[in-house]
Amino acid sequence: MTPLLFVPDDGPTREATRFGEHTMTYERLATAATALAARIAGAGRVAVWATPTPETVVAVVAALHAGVPAVPLNPKTGTRELAHIVSDSEPTVVLAGAGDPLPPVLEALDRIDVDTDPRDSGAALPEPSPESPALIVYTSGTTGPPKGAILPRRAIAASLDALEDAWQWTGDDVLVHALPLFHVHGLILGVLGPLRRGGSVRHLGRFSTEGVARELSSGGTMLFGVPTMYHRLAEALDGSGPGAAGLAKALAGARLLVSGSAALPVHDHERIAAATGRRVIERYGMTETLMNTGVRADGEPRPGTVGAPLRGVELRLVEEDGTVLPADATGPDAIGEIQVRGPNLFTGYLNRADATAAAFTEDGWFRTGDMATRDADGYVRIVGRKATDLIKSGGYRIGAGEIENALLDHPGVREAAVTGEPDPDLGERIVAWVVPADPASPPSAEELAGHVAAQLSPHKRPRTVRYLDALPRNDLGKIMKRSLHA
Ligand code: ATP
Ligand code: MG
Repeated sequence: MTPLLFVPDDGPTREATRFGEHTMTYERLATAATALAARIAGAGRVAVWATPTPETVVAVVAALHAGVPAVPLNPKTGTRELAHIVSDSEPTVVLAGAGDPLPPVLEALDRIDVDTDPRDSGAALPEPSPESPALIVYTSGTTGPPKGAILPRRAIAASLDALEDAWQWTGDDVLVHALPLFHVHGLILGVLGPLRRGGSVRHLGRFSTEGVARELSSGGTMLFGVPTMYHRLAEALDGSGPGAAGLAKALAGARLLVSGSAALPVHDHERIAAATGRRVIERYGMTETLMNTGVRADGEPRPGTVGAPLRGVELRLVEEDGTVLPADATGPDAIGEIQVRGPNLFTGYLNRADATAAAFTEDGWFRTGDMATRDADGYVRIVGRKATDLIKSGGYRIGAGEIENALLDHPGVREAAVTGEPDPDLGERIVAWVVPADPASPPSAEELAGHVAAQLSPHKRPRTVRYLDALPRNDLGKIMKRSLHA
């Protein structure tokens, strides 16, 4: 395996990261990271207080150099969840920015303030073995309490190389980035991805449509975002001000616009395509598996799909009774759970032998818990999560996603989520949770049911509509369906 991080020949001048006014060349990053690596070498595990700053990049790169597993922490995590993560992962050291206030639960750890500009670098350390754990990343906690996924260097390298293949990703790419740095998307794809091939990252700190327009029109070549960001871009493009025209031009000039972490609504995909002539491409991954599928840079971006399996990834769809769907079982009725195998997989959940065993089949496939269908050319369409998004109503199995897409296509709907609730006649009843575009005159339940019936089919219409001011979302903008109940 090639080392996880690439050191370009023009390291003294080539920009690795930029956060606002703060830039680091590859040489400076290497100096800071090796200096810190020398201080943490031999530690059991280090926690990283993962603010969106250059300190977080230096801390993670230092841990990778030292071969010490790093546990990125979300600084906004509530006290209870943070206490769980800390006692579960047992770090001995916490790496933080100088002056960052840390919560009491981290006070027992040795604190090291990260210096992004030390005078001397540290000595080179031996390259850790490919199977050694590089990062312990906690899942987003969408379906239950977050679990710590142990990610070996091999999985990270394999997944990033598969993306390089799919996206023709090179050291000349400049990534525009506004994601948090404690999940796979922002940290592994967004930081370690560019650093693996000598490219650069421009981090916005905080997402804004203006920031995206500015960076993409001044050298940025790629944008990685979550669906809520693309939704905001679609809204901004709808405006008539000069900002909308500049944004459209900036997006049109990007080499790649990539969405992931949750399903990109078809409506937003279409609006961006109409305003810019560019189509957002989707990729599908998980903390445990890193990236599984993606639309290729030279492929066809088809709304509502997450592309085909990436290089090295085996993917199959499995019915509830364990029957593996044949590869030629395509179309909307051939729904199965996505199971994957490949070098991109984690080694297991920390301290959760039970959950690890339950997650794998006897023959070593990982059960993603996501349900999908396949197009004739192998493109995967995610129907939703087995646990929350597959509604069994009136003898049908209905995916929440397509109903959400249909609702979002109604002009009176700003946000929508669909769930199933027990029903004496139907088994489960389709419930729509709707944030109206105009709270003063929300579309009626009858209106929305008629709209869905006309777009999809009558048995997919919501029987109950509940109106909210906003949907509950986590820091990646994922809808927390487990907190939606009557
Ligand atoms: P937890 O496992 O703690 O409940 P989580 O599954 O949300 O949380 P992550 O590992 O961050 O935690 O997210 C992986 C999940 O995100 C996938 O299983 C899938 O449901 C969803 N996902 C990721 N990318 C996409 C995509 N492009 N389209 C649809 N869903 C996606
Ligand atoms: Mg999950």
